[in-house]
Amino acid sequence: MKKVLGALAGLALCAAASTASAQVKGVYWATSGTFGPFPITGLIPTVPKEKQRDVTIPVSMWIIDSPKGLIVFDTGNNIAITGGNCKNYWAAGNCDFLKPNQTKETTIDGWLKKVGYTTDQVKVVVTSHSHLDHIGNIEMFPKAIHVIQKKELYQGWFPEKFQGRTSPGSFVMADIDNAREFNYLELNGDYDLFGDGSVTILSTPGHTLGHQSLKVKLAGGKTLVLSQDAIWMQENLDGYPAGLNYSVMDYTNSVNRLKFIRDLEGADIMMAHDQDQWAKGGDRWYR
Ligand SMILES: [Zn+2]
Repeated sequence: MKKVLGALAGLALCAAASTASAQVKGVYWATSGTFGPFPITGLIPTVPKEKQRDVTIPVSMWIIDSPKGLIVFDTGNNIAITGGNCKNYWAAGNCDFLKPNQTKETTIDGWLKKVGYTTDQVKVVVTSHSHLDHIGNIEMFPKAIHVIQKKELYQGWFPEKFQGRTSPGSFVMADIDNAREFNYLELNGDYDLFGDGSVTILSTPGHTLGHQSLKVKLAGGKTLVLSQDAIWMQENLDGYPAGLNYSVMDYTNSVNRLKFIRDLEGADIMMAHDQDQWAKGGDRWYR
């Protein structure tokens, strides 16, 4: 009997150990500088007059410390726009509207250094979509495994014309032109990144053709949904659709999908460009 109990205890320990390893140690919320200030209606034209305001928004990037490897989720604005050089790299219209204020410290390699890593230590780069403020620095990670939806790869290389194929568009060819031979895990939908449920890619199209979000299970017990541009900010959660969409129907389905994960799994939704959520909870580890 003792032996059986011992074996059972051993099994329980094994189960506890495997549960612990199926969670990430920490998620750090970084930002590629800020955009703004500009009227919220520049992004979300449907916000009614009484709720309109000027916003200065973060450009969210995430550093995920997992026992199975370091992950970066989105690489922000290209380093070339740092320090007032925007118009040498982006279309003037984007610089004038977005007013990026990225510094050396707020590029993705600057944030990695701040929290104790180099770009070469990053095992996996997940890219939500191929807009200029999300895929900007993938070329800093030639050794990583790059995880992106197959459709989004196509979109990055040849976006729909209305989504900005040419200047002043939001897809910048120079962000990706030297990344053709990178090691891409090309997805068609959801994916359990490490096979243990700790980090799940969620397909959330609409903002772009192949947008994806991440669900992360923290060792502390919390589940985070890192929406990136599936949900820009609180006003989108409140039912006002974003003004830049490949498909409004897919966008709406994706917002609802993430809301159901919030409500059914008790997850916190972390948004890409919400100034209030960043002010309260940005620039820190979640564990
Ligand atoms: Zn975007």
